Amino acid sequence: MSEECRFIIFGPPAAGKGTQSKNIVENFKCVHLSTGDLLRQAVQEETEVGKQAKEFMNKGDLVPDEVIIGVVIDALKKPQNSSFLLDGFPRSLGQAEALSKYLNENGTPLNAVVNLNVPEDVLEERICGRRIHKPSGRSYHVKFNPPKVEGKDDKTGEDLIQRADDTAEALKTRLANFNAQTMPVLEFFKNVQPNSILEIDGNKEMDQIWNDINDGLETKFKEKSNSAPATNVACENCVIS
Ligand code: AMP
Repeated sequence: MSEECRFIIFGPPAAGKGTQSKNIVENFKCVHLSTGDLLRQAVQEETEVGKQAKEFMNKGDLVPDEVIIGVVIDALKKPQNSSFLLDGFPRSLGQAEALSKYLNENGTPLNAVVNLNVPEDVLEERICGRRIHKPSGRSYHVKFNPPKVEGKDDKTGEDLIQRADDTAEALKTRLANFNAQTMPVLEFFKNVQPNSILEIDGNKEMDQIWNDINDGLETKFKEKSNSAPATNVACENCVIS
């Protein structure tokens, strides 16, 4: 696909955003911008942003808007990130408004918001069994997607880790934050870009979910190429630039 992708993947913690993001970026040739990954890297490197973010992250709380918005806008300004998939951002109304303003002023509005729907009772089992290979971001699950050797990455044989916030206790805070602060983001995009929302049932087999996402995104781009020429102007209600 030659057009620029400007996608968001949206959903509660452990909805499968990371797994499906890998599929999307591979197929649609866009850059995966995961704010969780960017922040974890900043924490590891002990940068100023990392120091500001660490405590919030460990508790499962949102990092303040002033910190995270700057991180994302800086990333979006890089020419190599002009085709992107945002994963984990925006997570508050303030972030959604800042993102929308920046993209619209730039004449490059979003062209799809993939909304992964997963019931809350499924999320706890998913999150507590999740194991990660930190260097690659590969994700496993002790029951649903176990590594070939327990505790080891399939490709490198290196240790898998459990994220500090992948506990039942932190999940409670993360879900409460999701419902209170992040759900309004979806409403925001439903209002300003209703045709960009792609509703996906995230409580199916991983391959099936990917098929649904792929079909949905392809259809949106087909609709676009069959419609009138793009105007590419800053416009609150533009669905596709
Ligand atoms: P994730 O890997 O997306 O689950 O993010 C891990 C943690 O990073 C979250 O629980 C938050 O503490 C923080 N974080 C990631 N993205 C954002 C965001 N857009 N706004 C605020 N905090 C964030």
